[in-house]
Amino acid sequence: MSTNPSTLTSEAANSMDPFWNDDLATADPEIAAAIGNELARQQDKIELIASENIASKAVLEATGSVFTNKYAEGYPGKRYYGGCDYADVVETLAIDRAKELFGCSFANVQPNSGSQMNQAVFLALLQPSDTFMGLDLNSGGHLTHGSPVNMSGKWFNPVSYGVRAEDELIDMDAVAATAREHQPKLIICGGTAYSRTWDFSAFRAIADEVGAILLCDMSHISGLVAGGAHPSPFPHCDIVTSTTHKSLRGPRSGIILWNDEKFTKPLNMAVFPGLQGGPLMHVVAAKAVAFREALAPDFKDYAHRVVENARALAASLEENGLRIVSGGTDNHSMLVDLTAKDVTGKDAEKGLDRAWLTCNKNGIPFDTRSPFVTSGIRLGTPAGTTRGFGPAEFRTIGKLIAEVVDGLAKNGAEGDAQVEESVRSRVADLCTAFPVYPNA
Ligand SMILES: *Cc1c(COP(=O)(O)O)cnc(C)c1O
Repeated sequence: MSTNPSTLTSEAANSMDPFWNDDLATADPEIAAAIGNELARQQDKIELIASENIASKAVLEATGSVFTNKYAEGYPGKRYYGGCDYADVVETLAIDRAKELFGCSFANVQPNSGSQMNQAVFLALLQPSDTFMGLDLNSGGHLTHGSPVNMSGKWFNPVSYGVRAEDELIDMDAVAATAREHQPKLIICGGTAYSRTWDFSAFRAIADEVGAILLCDMSHISGLVAGGAHPSPFPHCDIVTSTTHKSLRGPRSGIILWNDEKFTKPLNMAVFPGLQGGPLMHVVAAKAVAFREALAPDFKDYAHRVVENARALAASLEENGLRIVSGGTDNHSMLVDLTAKDVTGKDAEKGLDRAWLTCNKNGIPFDTRSPFVTSGIRLGTPAGTTRGFGPAEFRTIGKLIAEVVDGLAKNGAEGDAQVEESVRSRVADLCTAFPVYPNA
């Protein structure tokens, strides 16, 4: 008798194998429908969240692969489980490709997320209550760089640096003065809502002066770094962390990179067994796929188009009466200050969503409103660039955003329904012309 369920009647297959060979639509229609609706949302709306992207079908396929089933605690060649031959193949490829992509000597590709990669660095290098420096959340830093509600702020002693009021750029003299005063063990550069080029060599000089380890969390800009559209944190930074799902366009995950052998044992031990158990091998496989994509010559072109598109969007927003924090952008992202329009970030996010433009409210430097309300929105071009938008489309998007915001300025939180309707139809035209997963 055949043991292949596909040759049996469905009743027989079901009685033998109650679930494992069903496709998702059969096994779980509710979740299948939500996934279908999510695909339609990604197709029909314009994604402007700066930390999101549209991963390739190859990345999605690896993420959904049979490596989901595999335990591979340990590292290639040194596992705590049998059957790791192919896990070793994918992890070794992921490591080698990450090192080649970013030009460094060592990589750990196991962190499950951006937060965990940073936790691993803290666990490896700091003791509880040690002092470290990071960019203030209000100036565009990340939660894991010392927010009081995050472990980094609860168990360690964060000292923050920020941007100058006059030009909203990071004040390197103030960074140096703060470092001299507080003598941090670790200095973090990198953030989530800073649209200007990071001066890694200036951070290096400050770290050397006070004897601190220098960490760059390049999560937002790693795709630009990979494609040569932002200077590399290497060789200036001792350790570099990055999420892989933002401008890098891979699966949701994190990586840690470094050059000095002395960090190898502490960092690897911190990821496993310090923080994590079995790595998500399906995601490690997808990271390897994404790194290969980013090594291909056309990714350079992508990275430069992301920046060119961000400049076009920022210029269009300014021409249409909206202020860009720091007066523009050097990377994939920008903060729009809505103060002069007397519109909150919260209302703008909702109004734009009604018009099928997806973004997030975001505090601006020296914001007087709470993080739940805010005076700004953050916009980014990685996802739109992936679907094929160029400067012309992003100039149009800037105009559409300004129309929605002007409707909110005129009518309050409910906005101008007629304007929003008209914007929606122009968004629909753009989305139809530039489909997501066109062959899905
Ligand atoms: C997104 C981000 C993280 C956290 O990543 P998660 O995967 O959401 O945990 C950490 N640092 C920076 C700078 C980020 O932008």
